[in-house]
Amino acid sequence: MKVFKFGGSSVANSTNMKKVKDIIVNEIKSNGNELIVVLSAVFGITNLLFQISENLKNNKGIENEIKTFKDKFSEIIEELLEGNFKKVSIDFLNQIINTIVNVKNESNNITKREEKIIVAQGEIITSFIFHNYLLQEGIDNILVSALDFMKINQEREPDYEYISSMCSQLFKPGNLYITQGYICRDENGQIDNLGRGGSDYTASIIGAVLNAKEIQIWSDVSGIYNNDPRFVQETYTVNYITFEEAAELAYFGAKVLHPSTVLPAQKKSIPVILKNTFNPYSAGTVITNLILSEGFKAVAAKDNITIVQIKSYRMLMAYGFLRKIFEVFEQYKVPVDVITTSEVSVSLTIDDDTKLDDIVQELSSFASVEVIKNNSVIACVGYIPKNKPGYLKRVLDLLDGIPIRMLSYGSSDYSITLVLDSFYKREALNRLNKLFI
Ligand code: ASP
Ligand code: MG
Repeated sequence: MKVFKFGGSSVANSTNMKKVKDIIVNEIKSNGNELIVVLSAVFGITNLLFQISENLKNNKGIENEIKTFKDKFSEIIEELLEGNFKKVSIDFLNQIINTIVNVKNESNNITKREEKIIVAQGEIITSFIFHNYLLQEGIDNILVSALDFMKINQEREPDYEYISSMCSQLFKPGNLYITQGYICRDENGQIDNLGRGGSDYTASIIGAVLNAKEIQIWSDVSGIYNNDPRFVQETYTVNYITFEEAAELAYFGAKVLHPSTVLPAQKKSIPVILKNTFNPYSAGTVITNLILSEGFKAVAAKDNITIVQIKSYRMLMAYGFLRKIFEVFEQYKVPVDVITTSEVSVSLTIDDDTKLDDIVQELSSFASVEVIKNNSVIACVGYIPKNKPGYLKRVLDLLDGIPIRMLSYGSSDYSITLVLDSFYKREALNRLNKLFI
């Protein structure tokens, strides 16, 4: 079995859906009917559904939003479908709209529960239309509702036992299946979801429980870039990368996939391949657990980073200082990213400033605190083992003359992380492009 996931832009309109169909037909021709296709909602629709839910919560009208929703799907149906396939899809669309419009509970309220029902409808209608389109084109396929196998437990983690048992009953080799990303049920059987962008997670979970041969994530980019094409002219997509390296990059700005979403695949050593629906013959990026080569593979940058510098009032407070600091960040649920320390001070970065004032006030009760805003964190990623000298020197040589505010090296064999004033970001990324030649 293979799992292919297509993101919102891949199914954004009828033209794109045709491209997706071609990709599927190609796969079946070459490798047979061993495929599960996971679909996101049409691009922009999940946002629209959240908006509808907000409006309902605030007793505002939803006529405009419903019209946008209806127009979008009517257009796709009109352009893609004929005869009975068209008829059942229009009926289904109307049914979905009814569900949304009449979602309010007994007390005429919109709670989290109703919101989750509303935002699930994007994937449900998108997959229904696409399933019918394939049937119309003579491509046999079975539409399986993700609500019949995808389930999270009380901790909001996938219920692997249940998912695994349901998936092996529902998905059999020899068939093409269409299902929805993102949506699931909670431990009580209520409609829920895996969080924004959750379709990748769906694909990864299905792949893991079925021991799929590979998982392909199809989007509108050809994989992971070695550098940021918005700031650097000569970039290319990386052909092979490990999960560890990809995770470092994903966090630091390469917006291809979220590391936690591929964890199930990584644990089972199932290759994840990033492919471009609009350039299907480009190789894409293959992510595996295999280290195929040493050296730098890519750099990525993230902006709006705040440095918090914390200096102990009492010198040599031998232990407990770090704990006290991190307790404060924990209390405000603010993740800390890069950390560097000296004997009496600690610098760390956060990318969420909303609780900064409270945090600074709290820290100030036992330390002196300085805040520096407008930084960028740059991660130089690859397999750069610590026992091989030279990697750090190469980075620093290339950045000669650029002030570096923080430097983190040695916590893994996969990255060197720098924090600098965002003013220098473009220059730094361009210079670091020489790491790959
Ligand atoms: N449609 C959902 C979202 O926009 C899930 C996904 O696209 O992965 O968040
Ligand atoms: Mg997406």
